[in-house]
Amino acid sequence: MKKKSTNITWHETRLTANERAKRNGHRGVVIWLTGLSGSGKSTIAVETQVKLFEMGCQVYILDGDNIRHGLNKDLGFSPEDREENIRRIGEVAKLFADAGMIVLTSFISPYRKDRDRARNLLDPGDFIEVYVNAPLEVCEDRDPKGLYKKARAGEIPEFTGISAPYEPPLKPELEIRTDELSVEESAEKIIGYLREKSVLF
Ligand code: ADP
Repeated sequence: MKKKSTNITWHETRLTANERAKRNGHRGVVIWLTGLSGSGKSTIAVETQVKLFEMGCQVYILDGDNIRHGLNKDLGFSPEDREENIRRIGEVAKLFADAGMIVLTSFISPYRKDRDRARNLLDPGDFIEVYVNAPLEVCEDRDPKGLYKKARAGEIPEFTGISAPYEPPLKPELEIRTDELSVEESAEKIIGYLREKSVLF
């Protein structure tokens, strides 16, 4: 994406991330869930959000379908549009994390390069990539939105896992096998990681 504007300066706001973290009891971070459709990203994001909220955290979910209804409604599913979709989401997630929130993003985000670009927007340790992993057959069998059925019938072009690629993370901070763990255990795994890395204190 080309930069169109010049003469823009970054304004300092006299409130540091540390001050926000001290008040909230946690740092602002991005928990980036990636995986096939039906792997369990949304379900885990919702479960984790509720648990963190009940613990008193500032937490918010950015979810694929919701963002495509608004901010990214001009984008489709071509590789270029997927790249721009993830670029904008990365920028928005970064803003929420800067505001002190724990942001859970729930997007297939199939391309490694695009996820790495989102990672590079944040300080080391503030981008937590979670590979939500279940075999394609399991995801297809779950088919919570009936999308695999449509994709197999040729009604959805460029469907990840069927007719478009998915590049699994090489070094995710966490991998969650949702064909082996329950939803509850999956959320606990994320929260355990946040404790271990002193994101929560
Ligand atoms: P995605 O957001 O990745 O497309 P969803 O969360 O919409 O996936 O759907 C995942 C489906 O798998 C849901 O029907 C959910 O109940 C089921 N499921 C079974 N086990 C798990 C698990 N451990 N974690 C998350 N979802 C699970």
